[in-house]
Amino acid sequence: MTRKTLLITGASSGIGAATARLAAPDYDLALHYNGNRAGAEAVASDARSAGARVSLHRADLADPASIAPMFDEIDAAHPALHGLVNNAGVVDVAAPVAEFTPERVARMVAINLTAPMLVAAQSARRLGPGAAIVNVSSAAARFGSPGQYADYAATKGGLEVFSKGLAQELAPKGIRVTAIRPGIIETEIHAKGGLPDRAARLGPTVPMGRAGTAEEVARAILWLLSDSASYVTDTVLDVSGGR
Ligand code: NAP
Repeated sequence: MTRKTLLITGASSGIGAATARLAAPDYDLALHYNGNRAGAEAVASDARSAGARVSLHRADLADPASIAPMFDEIDAAHPALHGLVNNAGVVDVAAPVAEFTPERVARMVAINLTAPMLVAAQSARRLGPGAAIVNVSSAAARFGSPGQYADYAATKGGLEVFSKGLAQELAPKGIRVTAIRPGIIETEIHAKGGLPDRAARLGPTVPMGRAGTAEEVARAILWLLSDSASYVTDTVLDVSGGR
């Protein structure tokens, strides 16, 4: 049987990297990264060892013009595309809304909302029946992240609404679209937002008493992509330990 090809954005660390490593025995992989080439190459090496054919694609998703060329590369590297994990995303430093600047909000919207919509648009031109898209939202879309990341939460809320529209649009074509809401997950994203101990500090406040791991989110993503979820579309799955 022909192996399916999966595109994962932000596959150089955290949830995207864990998803790529867990997917490798079953999927060929188009792995996107931006600044962390070493991380992407380490993931690619592990995935190749697990049997996957792997291509690497660098794109700064803050720039919408980077997206079409990335898909040209993917087309050259793989015969077809069967799935997308729209995962790349950023937080900014924690700040109240009164301190937001035009630059901060524009960057947040570009990477966390404009880019996944345009990546989904390119994917929708290529995916066929049996394919699936998983959009990586956040529990922040439920909480609003007051005093810290209201901009981030707003982009994730927007991504969930987009996910709903896309799911309805593509269902007649046999393409499933879902979103996932990780809670507090141990990845590098917290340090990038200036709070390296965030997952350790907030873990005990979660009903399950701990932060989650990138692998726990990856397993849920892979289930949503799989034929085991063949009647699941237009839904959002919380992977947040009850938070
Ligand atoms: P992470 O380890 O920081 O990974 C983020 C990924 O996004 C990296 O591969 C990074 O690529 C990529 N990225 C960042 N800026 C980019 C840009 N301008 N252009 C292209 N790619 C860019 O974070 P993570 O925790 O795994 O986050 C993955 C997703 O989960 C995000 O959408 C995040 O919002 C969501 N999430 C995370 C948590 C959590 O607690 N960790 C909770 C809820 C939702 P490079 O490093 O190569 O630049």
